[in-house]
Amino acid sequence: MDEEDLVVLALAVVTHDLSIAKKMLHFSEDGILEEGDMMEKLRLAPTELRQLLYKMQDANLAVQLGTKEDEEGNRLTYWRINKDLARSFLLRKLREARDYLLKRMEEEELGEYYVCAADPSHIRLSFDEVISKMGESGLVCPICGAMLEPVDRERVVTGLKEMLEVLNKALRSLEGGVS
Ligand SMILES: [Zn+2]
Repeated sequence: MDEEDLVVLALAVVTHDLSIAKKMLHFSEDGILEEGDMMEKLRLAPTELRQLLYKMQDANLAVQLGTKEDEEGNRLTYWRINKDLARSFLLRKLREARDYLLKRMEEEELGEYYVCAADPSHIRLSFDEVISKMGESGLVCPICGAMLEPVDRERVVTGLKEMLEVLNKALRSLEGGVS
């Protein structure tokens, strides 16, 4: 992955919009952008653009440089995209995701879980929660009313392991650069 791709990916993670992330980088000049100019090019309302920029700022991926007046007296506001922080930002996000997966795997290996038999994404309860709910609602899914069934632990762990492998590969390739 080259540096530009890393910046686009980091901005996409923050803005939740790959196309805006690409355009923002494309229309910036060496990472510098002006709010009014960017609004026009991205066809965004001032508040929309500002929200994106603040999200980027919170993630340390952008910094406001300041304002100045042009010849007609319009106030121009400049920002810089912190391109060189994209890699460490992504590494942090991937490590968070890896820690989450490891925790899930540990939980899965230790405890017994129950899910909706019709759609496992509806509900996931630990054995203890199932016991405590038995009295009130019975062992049915609160969303669709289907029965709850024990999770096929092996299948879940295999899925988690596969995800971890992909994540670790991505981490290794990112760590190969300067972290
Ligand atoms: Zn259900």
